[in-house]
Amino acid sequence: MSFNSKKCRCGSSRNIYCSNCSKISMCILLKNGNDHLKLTNGRGRKVSPVWYSPIKENRKPERDIIEGMLSRFAASPFVNVTQQVNFYINNTTNLIFSYTL
Ligand SMILES: [Zn+2]
Repeated sequence: MSFNSKKCRCGSSRNIYCSNCSKISMCILLKNGNDHLKLTNGRGRKVSPVWYSPIKENRKPERDIIEGMLSRFAASPFVNVTQQVNFYINNTTNLIFSYTL
């Protein structure tokens, strides 16, 4: 899948972020003791929160997208309870950047 479009094209009509159409996903690995902040997946398992990059930034350089996501993350309550954030090309296991707090 390529991420050339600045709009959601998968049919779910998401305006800002889309789990399919955003170019980059950011997996938030929480410190121990913060399972209440994890999400529950379809099979009832607790999973790390994932943020998606703004679809309108899909054509920006990955570095610029990551910087924007990190600055929003730094302003969020998650920054205090996170061990590491990992950035992937969305829907792949292609790790492009990792930041340890
Ligand atoms: Zn979409």
